[in-house]
Amino acid sequence: MKILVVDDERLERRLVEKALTRIGHDVVLAENGVLAWQIVQEQQIRFVITDWDMPEMNGAQLIETIREEEKRGYVYTIMVTSKDTEEDVVEGLFSGADDYITKPFNPRELEARIAVGERMLNLEDNLTCTNQKLERLAMVDTLTGLMNRRAIYKFGHAELERARRESGSLSIIFLDIDKFKTINDVYGHLTGDETLKAVAQSIRERSRSYDGIGRWAGDEFLIILPSISVADAEKAAKRIVEGIAATNLALLDGTLLKTRASAGVASLARVTSAAAVLDDIIQQADEALYRAKEAGGNQVETVWL
Ligand code: GH3
Ligand code: MG
Repeated sequence: MKILVVDDERLERRLVEKALTRIGHDVVLAENGVLAWQIVQEQQIRFVITDWDMPEMNGAQLIETIREEEKRGYVYTIMVTSKDTEEDVVEGLFSGADDYITKPFNPRELEARIAVGERMLNLEDNLTCTNQKLERLAMVDTLTGLMNRRAIYKFGHAELERARRESGSLSIIFLDIDKFKTINDVYGHLTGDETLKAVAQSIRERSRSYDGIGRWAGDEFLIILPSISVADAEKAAKRIVEGIAATNLALLDGTLLKTRASAGVASLARVTSAAAVLDDIIQQADEALYRAKEAGGNQVETVWL
């Protein structure tokens, strides 16, 4: 593990360095707190062993700075000091140090304390990894693998903000499968689920990599298209609707199930600061979708905002 050793006395630095390299650690040295803080940031150090009394920035100040600025994950810190009264130990720990060892130190004790620190950092890594997995799961629609409602809404917000900053364009496609209830009723819920997956796949295949695709609810899908002209957004929606109509779902008994879908497109050629609230754009796309359904389905209606 990469460990930063901070001490203003060369001899002390060498002593700790020797003890650490002997047990296989990769050591980086700093002679004061200011330099140490720079190194922690530049080299993303996660383990620091620091002296207490140093000019410029002492060990306690260094640890306080690390704690205040900690963004990329926890930095484990051990203070090595000749101060050994109870009050000093308390002060060192209050400044944010995780552990404390007094000079002259016993190398075996230092080794054991480093092992404790490594266990802590491993626990932190596992926790971060689990949290990231949970976060990913919380954003995915399990049936189709698309973004779920929460995720596509968040994506929409981010893209709308970006378009606003850049005075760029943004379009939203609201898509709904035609007569999906009938598919469920006639062929069963499982076939309904297969249809939803096939439609999701069909949308994926006909979208650009930077478009956001989400399942909004039931048989409704939301596609967010950043930086696209109104005409191209309408073309994209038609391509998707036609793609769905061209895809047959093969059932176990050999029946080829045809699916149709309708889409409403709400397009903003230029997002200005005054206009554009995501809910309103979605609402407009939903109303355009309603008109597409009223006109018989399997088609696209566009509204320019
Ligand atoms: P329209 O042409 O007007 O869109 O009519 P529709 O029959 O498609 O009606 P609607 O969009 O209201 O139907 C949605 C149906 O989707 C109702 C609900 O039972 C069904 N549904 C919602 N979630 C799921 C799901 O996860 N799996 C399956 N199989 N069906 C679902
Ligand atoms: Mg429907």
